[in-house]
Amino acid sequence: MQEINDINENTPLEQISDPFLQERNISLFIQREDLLHPQISGNKWYKLKYNLSEAKVQGKDTLLTFGGAYSNHIYSVAAAGKIFKLNTIGVIRGEENSVLNSTLSFAKDCGMIFYYLNRSDYKNKDSEEILGRLKRIFGDFYLLPEGGTNQLAVKGCCEIISKLKTEFDYVCCPCGTGGTLAGLISGLTGNNFALGFAILKNASFLKDNVRSVLKSSDKNNLNNWDINLDYHFGGYAKTNTQLSNFTQKFSLLTGIPIETIYTGKMLFGIYDLVSKGFFKEGTRIVAIHTGGLQSSRILSQKIMINDKDYSSEFES
Ligand SMILES: *Cc1c(COP(=O)(O)O)cnc(C)c1O
Repeated sequence: MQEINDINENTPLEQISDPFLQERNISLFIQREDLLHPQISGNKWYKLKYNLSEAKVQGKDTLLTFGGAYSNHIYSVAAAGKIFKLNTIGVIRGEENSVLNSTLSFAKDCGMIFYYLNRSDYKNKDSEEILGRLKRIFGDFYLLPEGGTNQLAVKGCCEIISKLKTEFDYVCCPCGTGGTLAGLISGLTGNNFALGFAILKNASFLKDNVRSVLKSSDKNNLNNWDINLDYHFGGYAKTNTQLSNFTQKFSLLTGIPIETIYTGKMLFGIYDLVSKGFFKEGTRIVAIHTGGLQSSRILSQKIMINDKDYSSEFES
């Protein structure tokens, strides 16, 4: 059986060689967490790992969590459940669709059971009423919040910093809930700065999220981080030709696949800030590639679940 320590976290750090950056004397490195695992890729592994061990310590055999029908978190929790032999329940926002999209059909084949909540119940998903209902239906479970952000997720993401094999001034990541950024902040030790890029519109609430999840640590008073709100492109999963041209060009130039939902927005933001002179000359930037490629169908390796080959789902 796979143990949590069996997952190989030894992912590469790659320096981007791009005349645009060289002319401005900016060094950009990509920490390739997208290569960590074919199904639990990027930041999702770090968010889950200590929760998985805690679920086992508590003797729980079932994980329950929440998400939209395209959620990378749902996808990763389903895969983790299959790999580490835990039952998984996905409470999905909205109505059941007769045809499952590729995220949910992958999750189903991993063994995840779905429970759909309409949008108003979903808003109250953390209430006693809804949680009580879920307990009556499913019995005892280990609860992972929507997006997987909690103290143990922060503890896991903190480790991304300790493995970086370079000096840096900025470490950057895309922000959905801000949990990953909170982990990066809590791992900083020197004079360096953590900069998140919001991928949602009107996302100033993210700063409160980060503060509150850092609250119980001694890191909550630090001024060494910020969240840029300017590169959401209209909201979650919204894109335009400028962004998709950028991600295509970047992938061609570097050989590093990126998507437009998370890493594409972060890297677009970094490049735009470089062009505006935001970073001073000589700045060293590490951008965390948080994965997410299953959602944009650019993974090409064979992906076998229950003897079914998912590879065609991931081809572009
Ligand atoms: C979930 C996800 C994020 C967002 O992480 P948060 O901790 O919620 O901010 C970023 N990138 C990718 C690829 C993701 O799947």
